[in-house]
Amino acid sequence: MTSYLIQGASLLGAKAADLGVLGGAFVDASEVAGLKKTRVIDATGLVGLPGLVDLHTHVRQPGGEQAETVRTGSRAAALGGYTAVHAMANTSPVSDTAELVSAVARWGAEAGYVEVRPVGAVTKGLEGQELAPLGAMARSAAQVRVFSDDGKCVHDSSLMRRALQQARSLDAVIAQHAQDPGLTEGAQMNDGPLAAALGLAGWPAVAEETIIARDVLLAESVGARLHVCHVSTAGSIEVIRWAKARGISVTAEVTPHHLLLTEELVSTFDPLFKVNPPLRRQEDVLALREAVASGVIDIVATDHAPHPSEVKDCSFPEGAFGMLGLETALSVVLSTLVNPGMVSLKDVARFMSTTPAAIGRLEGYSSPFALGEPAHITLVDPTAEASEPRGSLSHNNPYRGRDLEGRVVHTMYRGNLTVTDGELVERPEVYP
Ligand SMILES: [Zn+2]
Repeated sequence: MTSYLIQGASLLGAKAADLGVLGGAFVDASEVAGLKKTRVIDATGLVGLPGLVDLHTHVRQPGGEQAETVRTGSRAAALGGYTAVHAMANTSPVSDTAELVSAVARWGAEAGYVEVRPVGAVTKGLEGQELAPLGAMARSAAQVRVFSDDGKCVHDSSLMRRALQQARSLDAVIAQHAQDPGLTEGAQMNDGPLAAALGLAGWPAVAEETIIARDVLLAESVGARLHVCHVSTAGSIEVIRWAKARGISVTAEVTPHHLLLTEELVSTFDPLFKVNPPLRRQEDVLALREAVASGVIDIVATDHAPHPSEVKDCSFPEGAFGMLGLETALSVVLSTLVNPGMVSLKDVARFMSTTPAAIGRLEGYSSPFALGEPAHITLVDPTAEASEPRGSLSHNNPYRGRDLEGRVVHTMYRGNLTVTDGELVERPEVYP
C-alpha cells in the first residue's frame, strides 16, 4: 500500500502546507515523511481542492455504450478532478430497479476511478405514469439517495407529491428536471427574438419557472427535500430565493455551460450548442453567476451528456440535446467565478464537493483534508491553460477553441492516484 507525502500544496487557497496519505486516509505529514515506500508529490504552486462530487452525470451505460460507459465516464471524471459522480437514470433500460442500480455501482467500483453513485428513476421507465420502486433502490447495495427522471420532468403533480413523500421517508431527495412539456413541445432553443429570427421553435423561461414554483410548494406541503436540476433562467433564481426565504428545503444546481455560454451560439446552427435546458441570454448567465456567489444556487453540477458524432454532426433540429462537462467544469468555474474574484476556492470546495455530497448523502466529504478522513484530493494549477477533454468516449465539447484557465494535475481517490501529472493512471489501485 503506497503512502504519499503531498508537499507544498495551497489547500483551499491557504498558505502552502504538507499533507500525508496512508491507508487511503489523510494523516499528518510527519507520519509518512520517513517511510521508505512514501511517494512524494511535489505540489508547489498547485491548489488543493477536495475531490469533486458531481450530482448530475450521464454515463450512458447500459444501452448507450457507443457514447460513454461507466468506465470512460469515470476516466473523464477523474481527469476533471472528480472523485464521485451521480449517474443519471435515463439509460436503456432505465435505472429503475434495485438490480440495475446495483449493477451501475458495481461497474463503477470495477473501473476504480471514482465512486459511481446511481440515481434511481422516479417513475417506471421514466414514463411519468407509475412510481418506480424507490424503497427497493434505496435499500439495495447501491443505497440510492437521489431519484430523478432527468431528461423528463415529473409533470403529474399527484405523482410528484407521492414521490416527495416517499423520498422523505427514505432520507432521499427528488432531483427535478423542471420543464413543462406542454410549453416546450418541439422547442429547440431559448424563446425570444433570436429564436424567431433563426426560425427555431422557442423554449420559454416560464416552462422552467412554473415547475420550480409548483415543486417548492409541493415539497413544503409534505416536508420533503427538493433538488432543482440545471437552473437556467434569472426568473428561476427568484423563485428559489423566495422558497429559501420561506424556509422550504430546496437546493439548486447550475451547469458550467449555463455559467458561460449564451444563445447567440445557436446562430451557428451547430448542434454542439444544443442543450436542455437551452443556452439563455447574457442577463441569465450573469444572474446565475451572482446566484452561485450568493449561495441561492447551491452547487455546480455538470449535466455531462456525451453523444456520438452522428447525432451532433447533423442539422440543428436533428441534433441531440447535451454537451460534455466533466473534464471542463472546474476550468469554467475558475475562469468565470474564481479568477475574476467572485468566489473563493473555499466556496468552490463547498459548491463542487461538500454540498453536492451532502445532498446525495455521500459520506467522507464533510470536512475536506481532515486527518483520518478518506483521501480525496484534486491538485490544480489554477492559471495554466485547461487541457482538452480526452477521457470521454464522445467529443461534443462546447468549449473547443476557447481559452479556459485551470488544469487538473493530480486527482486522488481514496488515497490512490487516478490522475498524475495530468495523465490517467491505467489501473488505479482500489481499496476494498
Ligand atoms: Zn435534465
